[in-house]
Amino acid sequence: MIIFPDLPNVEVERVEVAEEITLTLRTTSPTASCRSCGAASSRIQSRYTRMLHDLPSVGRPIRLIMHVRRFFCKKRICTQKIFTERLPELCHPHAQRTKRLQEERETLRQLRQASPHLEAAYHLVETFLQMVRQRTGEHLDAWLAAVKASHLEAFESFVTGVQQDKDAVLAGLTLEWSSGPLEGNVNRLKLIKRSMYGRAEIDLLKLRVLYHSKKGQDRKNKRNKKQQKSLKNSASSLHATTTEISQVA
Ligand SMILES: [Zn+2]
Repeated sequence: MIIFPDLPNVEVERVEVAEEITLTLRTTSPTASCRSCGAASSRIQSRYTRMLHDLPSVGRPIRLIMHVRRFFCKKRICTQKIFTERLPELCHPHAQRTKRLQEERETLRQLRQASPHLEAAYHLVETFLQMVRQRTGEHLDAWLAAVKASHLEAFESFVTGVQQDKDAVLAGLTLEWSSGPLEGNVNRLKLIKRSMYGRAEIDLLKLRVLYHSKKGQDRKNKRNKKQQKSLKNSASSLHATTTEISQVA
């Protein structure tokens, strides 16, 4: 998983994964160059924290907490007595979003402007997602009417599915309960059963399900630890530069 482009001299201090992924970063270069005279300085004046929003990853928004430094300019004749270190690969000065997030938003804005159909589709998708996130299922009928009025073919099969199973969809959009854990367990049970198809009776199946529970939990813990570690490593070893990302965009 690529969290952010290659940033020389930036270290990930902390990763918190919740509804939002928060990465705490700190700059490590021994010196920074004065933006006025270009002279490198290692004399730190102070530190401060900068917040940045980045592209989402695995469906979760990413927030960067950057610990950056201010330096004294060592050239006496320079008018800039104190300057802040910059991270040109990551963001523009004073920006609240990373460069790649800004670029993606700009591409989306242009696409929406170029096609009224895309603009309508974008709004419909956003409204539906809002219902999911805020559990406001009471707006479902209005949403279905808006889709009908838009005459967008791309939504037809989705709407048919929603209408066929409306009670369940409404419950999903309103209640706080989720059948996710149950579905996950059913899926696990089916997978184990199918992997030993025709080779065993219920006794062995039972053993495997119970045995897998403990083993699965251990594996999950291990995987989580590994994921945290790889997030940290990504900061120092990534080579998906902003240039590459903007080329794709
Ligand atoms: Zn200077």
